[in-house]
Amino acid sequence: MIEIDADRDACVGAGQCAVTAPELFDQNEDDGLVVLLRQPAQGEEEAARKAVSLCPARALLER
Ligand code: SF4
Repeated sequence: MIEIDADRDACVGAGQCAVTAPELFDQNEDDGLVVLLRQPAQGEEEAARKAVSLCPARALLER
């Protein structure tokens, strides 16, 4: 099982993560910055890694 860190200081609110894996990521209503909803469950690793790789700000890290 993988764990994801979301760095709100690095996030630029591009929203790729929320589009790619909406079950794991959302965007704050006010500032648009990433909200990590929960850690990936079994079977969600691929979507989580895809979101990490697509983040233009490198704000998502796999621990
Ligand atoms: S893809 Fe990256 S920059 Fe865009 S909202 Fe998600 S964490 Fe922030």
